[in-house]
Amino acid sequence: MIDEEKAFTVCPKCLGRDVSWDLSKESYAGGRIFNQKICNNCGFTSLLFPELTEREYDKLLKQKK
Ligand SMILES: [Zn+2]
Repeated sequence: MIDEEKAFTVCPKCLGRDVSWDLSKESYAGGRIFNQKICNNCGFTSLLFPELTEREYDKLLKQKK
């Protein structure tokens, strides 16, 4: 059974769900660690990745088609 209310991180570019923390040097600046994430599918990086529930994700996928 899928928990429809559980949110997960989605890449806004390719809608991939394979998103992890970007631990490359670029995510460190001025001694501060930015919580940057990277999409392992298309390589898109951003500080802000949308979090969607199954229901919202489903809706988005249908809109993209
Ligand atoms: Zn992506």
